[in-house]
Amino acid sequence: MSANLATNLTRTAERHGDRPAIVLDDVRLSYTELEASARQLAGWLRSRGIGVGDRVALMLPNVPAFPVIYYATLRLGGIVVPMNPLFKRREIQYYLEDSGASLLVALPGDEVTAAAEAAGVPVLAVGPEGLSSYVHGEEATDPVEEVVERAGDDTAVILYTSGTTGRPKGAELTHDNLQTNQATTTETLLHLGPEDVVMGCLPLFHVFGMTCALNTAVSTGAALTLIPRFEPARALEIMERDRVTVFEGVPTMYGAMLASATSAGRVPDLSTLRTAVSGGASLPVELMRRFEETFGCQILEGYGLSETSPVASFNHPDRERKAGSIGIPVRGVEMKLAGAVGEGEEPEGGIGEICIRGENIMKGYWGKPEATAEAIDADGWFHSGDLARVDEDGYYFIVDRKKDMINRGGLNVYPREIEELLYEHPAVAEAAVVGVPHPELGEEVSAYVVLAPGAQATEEELIEHVRSQVAPYKYPRTVHLIEELPKGATGKILKRELRTS
Ligand code: AMP
Repeated sequence: MSANLATNLTRTAERHGDRPAIVLDDVRLSYTELEASARQLAGWLRSRGIGVGDRVALMLPNVPAFPVIYYATLRLGGIVVPMNPLFKRREIQYYLEDSGASLLVALPGDEVTAAAEAAGVPVLAVGPEGLSSYVHGEEATDPVEEVVERAGDDTAVILYTSGTTGRPKGAELTHDNLQTNQATTTETLLHLGPEDVVMGCLPLFHVFGMTCALNTAVSTGAALTLIPRFEPARALEIMERDRVTVFEGVPTMYGAMLASATSAGRVPDLSTLRTAVSGGASLPVELMRRFEETFGCQILEGYGLSETSPVASFNHPDRERKAGSIGIPVRGVEMKLAGAVGEGEEPEGGIGEICIRGENIMKGYWGKPEATAEAIDADGWFHSGDLARVDEDGYYFIVDRKKDMINRGGLNVYPREIEELLYEHPAVAEAAVVGVPHPELGEEVSAYVVLAPGAQATEEELIEHVRSQVAPYKYPRTVHLIEELPKGATGKILKRELRTS
């Protein structure tokens, strides 16, 4: 049987053809319709010369055209290169050139046109009417009936990630990487079935949304209800409207939904929700507790990276849930801690760098063999750049990213510990702690805080709240009260922007 990930859609269309696949407000595509659109669009792509191994850059928000193009490209044996639709000209051009894309699929816009022209790449512009002219209209060509045969280790997707250093690198994820990771997520973590409704608010161009929302839903026949851009009040409304059963998000989404329900003075009915998953960044324990209390659900935290397809560890639903932990390695994946300071060193004070090995590890970075060799060692361990400790039950606890660790005059401060304390203050909605340059100490601890709606607290009060609970070298000497923290595509807090602000 072909390892091509696109066979999942074909199989689900045969078994659950009438069930809703993709929902975006009043647009509804059944699995039969999604499969038919993907076949039809594959015909158009083939007529434009796209075939095995060709890269198709896909730069769209969460709209129905995304899965259509994704599965059409894979169907032909092509490689999908997802991109953030907010990218500007320089970024678009870099991704197109680095991946050697044959086509860019995007919403029309000046930045897109200019970048594509500079890179010499043709554009398929997806207008407000979606792909209808390519699927049913004047542009339609003969559909592609077959799914092109692919081997398990052929690349399916190139996902760009900053990794720990340098310019974004393309992580090559194979059909097997994505297939096994979605199967593990579906079968052992989410227990997903055709009756489920998955909330699609994580961007599908990011690995978390792509595997855990899109690929899992399509492999089981669950419905995926999309929101093009995350807004907390809108997300809650959709969850109630569509009777969502599975929610997956990053911690800032949980924080924003909690703040939204609090300030609206109404908690929506989320009684159909049976699984809530957090990943992508540390979920502060206090936020977890407040959210669970308010919405009456349990959040399970998992961990992973673009390079690991992404799920590496998880608080499995059939085991003890440990708050603040990223759980245990998932099926088919091994984890260990390596010396945090240098190669070959023993973990110091029990803290080491998470290394991951298994069927989910990327093939390598596209066109960058040295970067690949740096990330994956001779024994196949991928070095994550994340520091953690592990308890006697094998549960991992993230301490911080290696590069976020603050070195204050030779003493290590892990921002996460300080952030957890700030979240315990009732006035705090969001907190981020970073190291800022200091003439004598090298680095000093500094905090950025967003207050909860209507709450009040002074900078001095917040400093004192932390100072009274930690060793003197750890508490922030400055606290900046700000309106909003800078966030990336999925909603992760961008600490590098705080450091340079
Ligand atoms: P990305 O490749 O964009 O998915 O980012 C991966 C990074 O997100 C990891 O290296 C971690 O630093 C971070 N991350 C993912 N999940 C968690 C988690 N549960 N707790 C803390 N950090 C996380």
